[in-house]
Amino acid sequence: MGDRTVSGDALLAIIFEISRQVAEADDASSVLPVLVSLTRRMVVFDNLIIYLPDENELQPYFARAVGRGRSKEAELPWGTEIAEKIYFQNKTSAFHEEIGEPKEDRVNARMYLGTPLRQGNKKIGVLVLIRFGSPAYSDKDISRLEYVAENVAHLLERERLVSTIEKVEGSQRMWKMQENFVATVSHDLRTPLGFIKGYTTTLLREDTEWDVPTYREFLGIIDDEADRLQALIDNLLDSSRLQSGTLPMKFQRVELDVLLRDMIQRTQLGDFNLKVQFDIKDPGMEVNADPMRMGQVFDNLLSNASKYAPGSTVCVTLSREGGWAQVLVADDGPGIEEEHLEKIFQRFYRIPETKLAQRGSGLGLYICRQIINAHQGEIHAESTEGEGTTFRITLPLAEETPDKKLS
Ligand code: ADP
Repeated sequence: MGDRTVSGDALLAIIFEISRQVAEADDASSVLPVLVSLTRRMVVFDNLIIYLPDENELQPYFARAVGRGRSKEAELPWGTEIAEKIYFQNKTSAFHEEIGEPKEDRVNARMYLGTPLRQGNKKIGVLVLIRFGSPAYSDKDISRLEYVAENVAHLLERERLVSTIEKVEGSQRMWKMQENFVATVSHDLRTPLGFIKGYTTTLLREDTEWDVPTYREFLGIIDDEADRLQALIDNLLDSSRLQSGTLPMKFQRVELDVLLRDMIQRTQLGDFNLKVQFDIKDPGMEVNADPMRMGQVFDNLLSNASKYAPGSTVCVTLSREGGWAQVLVADDGPGIEEEHLEKIFQRFYRIPETKLAQRGSGLGLYICRQIINAHQGEIHAESTEGEGTTFRITLPLAEETPDKKLS
């Protein structure tokens, strides 16, 4: 067994196919196996290994056993020492190794051929071929392997560049988000602060006497705005803790209908105009939940309905769907256009048209989704424009215990 004899035309076709594969590759992992079989059509080898530097060591990045030794793959040599030699000498080299008896077993006569992978003057790794049994690699094998190595180096370098670009784009996006964050937050903090400052300064003017009802009215506004500021700061803190995964959740087994009834009553106490119809289709369902955080979700959905669908009767429906509890919170307000239905769960997202009419920070639904996800559940919005919006929440039911069967 010597050079792989291929006709000039066939060789050209292989070479052409190698460069086409590399040019059109989306990712190295899918093309490298193709390159292995193309290479094998022009150079005989049993193992092919690509080593890449990782800190101070070369590590195998890709390895294939294709020859007859394949069945013994686990015991085969992979030429690590030789790869290191080639990497440090930075030139193509062939080595031959006889390792003991029986000599007839071709796995004991090993021919190594390795070449550095380079991009310009930079070494980026080593490509090693191993063949069991003679003869040694020829000059033709060497130049064919060097051609393959050049292409592999292109492929790997391109992959590295793509991942670097993705990282840069990712950090640019982060930077942009942080910039937007600062802009939005400072705007949202300034608005209530502006009211508080304005009304306080007005009340403190020495050139004007205010009657008691005016005093009370202005103090009422200051009080509301201070509450708003407090809620905004709480939301900001929650949202950044949720994003970094540091918002502690205290899970316990809770009956969802009890939790919801409680929540609805509390929200109605703070908003006399809120009309809610609560329909429990399947009572007694238990979930593992943090009652305070879960309450926050429903409080937010109910106050949104009151803000964005004023005058609606909000229908809250609790039912069981297989191993899940489902809660629907439906209003009959103006609805939400399809294009916004997923975006409203993004941090700071507000539907542009609602911006002027109602105050808000775009954090509420983001927080709701993070909390629901932390409970292994899902929340989505559905809407028919002009007919209202329905928020659908699904939560996994807590394991049933033998003495307490769910409905
Ligand atoms: P915020 O209320 O502070 O703006 P949210 O995250 O709670 O933030 O809501 C995001 C956006 O989704 C709101 O600005 C509003 O445009 C829209 N929205 C939320 N709930 C409803 C609803 N029930 N009906 C119509 N639009 C809604």
